[in-house]
Amino acid sequence: MVNYTELVNKQREFFYTKATLDLAGRRRRIETFKKLLEENKQEIDDAIFADIRRHPSILSDVTMTLHEVELTLKNMDEWVQPHKLPASDNVGQKSDNGVPAPDPTRLGSPNDQFYLVREPLGVILIISPWNAPLICSSALIQAFAAGNTVILKPSELDPTYAPVIAKLVAKYFDEKEFAVVEGGVPETTELLKERFDHILYTGCPPVAKIIMAAASKYLTPVTLELGGKNPVFVDESADLALLAKEVVGAKIFNAGQACICTDYILTSPAMKPKVVAALSAAFDALGDMSKVPANARIVNDRHFKRLLNMLDKTKGKVVYKAGGELNEKDKFVPFHLVEVNGTDDIFMQEEIFGPLLAIMEIGSFDAALDYIKRNEKPLAAYIFTQNNEQANRFVMETSSGGVTVNGAFAHSGPGLPFGGVGNSGMGRLMGKYSFDMFTHEKPICVKAGLKPNFNL
Ligand code: NAD
Repeated sequence: MVNYTELVNKQREFFYTKATLDLAGRRRRIETFKKLLEENKQEIDDAIFADIRRHPSILSDVTMTLHEVELTLKNMDEWVQPHKLPASDNVGQKSDNGVPAPDPTRLGSPNDQFYLVREPLGVILIISPWNAPLICSSALIQAFAAGNTVILKPSELDPTYAPVIAKLVAKYFDEKEFAVVEGGVPETTELLKERFDHILYTGCPPVAKIIMAAASKYLTPVTLELGGKNPVFVDESADLALLAKEVVGAKIFNAGQACICTDYILTSPAMKPKVVAALSAAFDALGDMSKVPANARIVNDRHFKRLLNMLDKTKGKVVYKAGGELNEKDKFVPFHLVEVNGTDDIFMQEEIFGPLLAIMEIGSFDAALDYIKRNEKPLAAYIFTQNNEQANRFVMETSSGGVTVNGAFAHSGPGLPFGGVGNSGMGRLMGKYSFDMFTHEKPICVKAGLKPNFNL
């Protein structure tokens, strides 16, 4: 077994050598990772397909991660540089990145020079989930851009991918700058006893509490990318064909095992039969999904049984079922639309994370907003409407990681901050947002006419 204390110490000693500060070194690490991905794309794609049965033609973790690589290589020179603020006697002026001059009534003399400098944090731990193993660890790219070292712990629920990424990282990198630690709960529990400078965890809220408790020992900052119950509100004016296309698309992607998947529908009693009809027609058009090898299956027996248990325990009624026959050996679960009547139904209590969808009647738009507000804050929230006022109120009066109006998934993409709020997580990822997360931005005041150069 890997000696975690030795590994973390080795990375921290390397960090202390200042080797990670050098801009060329940061760039070299990202380019090495790019090379790793490009030279081994097939092997990584195959491993992910073997574990989760999501074909790279639907979504390739490697392709998406390479996009983050390119974006970072293109922008990192600008991200890393310090920003000089206008002198404090120039109130109203802004620095080149839009930070206003400090207030002279509070700070120093007119000759003081102010800067904002980004310092790396040190040793970063990234714990990733099984359902998007590479994408959910792609922030390691910005961790390098920021001048840190990285330890990655992939999910044990990806038994093919985890050893592949471990082997490749060991081949392309020295473990003092980047290492993969394999294992499940016992290994991660041990690993979490070490001191890290930031932990990025992606997974479910109950485990996030364990991560946060472990991090508190050293007051290690955490970013938590979690899941939750993502509502879909459908009003009387909604385009039902669009709704069906988007919700069905979200549910078949990864067999509903995506953190921003549409989880339950809230709609009026009058709209409910129309919504059921629209969704049924869209699913009918797909045919037998169990015959489509590229279509993801449920990840393992535990999750397969969890979904069957939900179907057994529901007090609601299955109003539509399609897509093929349940197959335990193949871990295939057909799409089920379940009509639930109350919040005490198991379907309204836990993240579904599978190809099942709940639909619940709600008396009014205000009641829907109230329902969403009074429950745990979701990672994503969706509304289908042709009414600007409703869309506006939905965005402004509910809290969630992000919202797509008249669509699903679309608020998550390159250039946009990705992250939850409350029970769905904390911190924001992607591109510059990840870079910021893995640095500390420190204000500098230089007095006495000195003009040091903090440029990298
Ligand atoms: P999980 O929490 O079971 O596992 C995630 C990671 O945590 C794995 O590496 C696992 O080994 C580790 N882990 C599990 N139990 C642990 C414990 N007791 N102590 C220490 N480490 C432990 O999550 P999962 O099943 O891999 O992923 C599904 C969840 O992740 C869903 O809730 C989904 O919504 C969420 N998710 C969120 C995002 C996001 O970006 N917000 C992305 C993908 C998945």
